Amino acid sequence: MKYDTQNFKLLKNEEIADGIFDWEVENNELCALSKCGQFVSVKVPSRTLRRPISICDADKNTLRLVFQVKGEGTKLMSEMKVGDNVEILAPLGNGFSIEKGKRYCFVGGGIGVPPLLFSAKQTDNPMIITGFRNKDLVILQDDFKAVSDDVYLATDDGSAGEKGFVTDILKEHLDEIDEVCACGPIPMLKAVADVCKGKVKCQVSLEERMGCSVGACLVCACKTKTKDGIKMTQVCKNGPVYDAEEVFFDA
Ligand SMILES: Cc1cc2nc3c(=O)[nH]c(=O)nc-3n(C[C@H](O)[C@H](O)[C@H](O)COP(=O)(O)OP(=O)(O)OC[C@H]3O[C@@H](n4cnc5c(N)ncnc54)[C@H](O)[C@@H]3O)c2cc1C
Repeated sequence: MKYDTQNFKLLKNEEIADGIFDWEVENNELCALSKCGQFVSVKVPSRTLRRPISICDADKNTLRLVFQVKGEGTKLMSEMKVGDNVEILAPLGNGFSIEKGKRYCFVGGGIGVPPLLFSAKQTDNPMIITGFRNKDLVILQDDFKAVSDDVYLATDDGSAGEKGFVTDILKEHLDEIDEVCACGPIPMLKAVADVCKGKVKCQVSLEERMGCSVGACLVCACKTKTKDGIKMTQVCKNGPVYDAEEVFFDA
């Protein structure tokens, strides 16, 4: 595959929660190629390494990217202006695999929630469970409610939705679904995988630190289990989505 840097135009840059920004970017060729669970790699002004951000939503000419300011790169992204040109490699990675006729439950934690919106839109009658530390960090609830009548919210401190973890809600509804797709912090993914083990299939999206985003460096190398033993893979190229049974969550 050829990875050309492409020019996107920033159409929207809005702070939707504390330190969390909602971008809409336009490119008339690449957006329509996006599949759910894939990501893009954004060139940040005056920085060499790009920043990987999941595709939150896509249509023919635009992508929606929702990101949290963590360090310098995402801070600079948050300061970009509507109308700016943004260099973005897209779409990248292997996303969630979705089969017709199955009922999926999308489980997200914190800034792992955005890619689940585009993914949920590809399925019939999805269940959506999202969790956040507190009410100030809750995002995308109206978007999810537009896609599904079965939307559950949890916060660690109970300041919005149910008090507790996404896994508490998942356990209650496991017999209503066929498969889980999850994205969020590693401890959450491990807990979700444990709940699903032996009961329903679970795909997890890993948001590892990345260098190049296109398989040229080994920054995002990840140990996975295969039937032949242990194999090193690169999250940017082989993932970010894996069957939960393949992942060593404690590695
Ligand atoms: C496939 C993929 C999809 C992603 N999708 C999103 C998304 O949709 N929205 C979003 O906000 N973020 C997403 N991330 C994480 C995002 O790429 C990082 O937060 C960002 O690169 C940090 O850059 P920075 O320059 O602001 O921070 P840096 O200065 O590089 O780091 C600042 C802090 O962020 C932490 N950090 C850096 N990279 C990551 C990471 N990959 N995961 C967790 N913590 C990290 C560092 O440990 C450090 O504490 C994704 C990452 C991957 C690999």
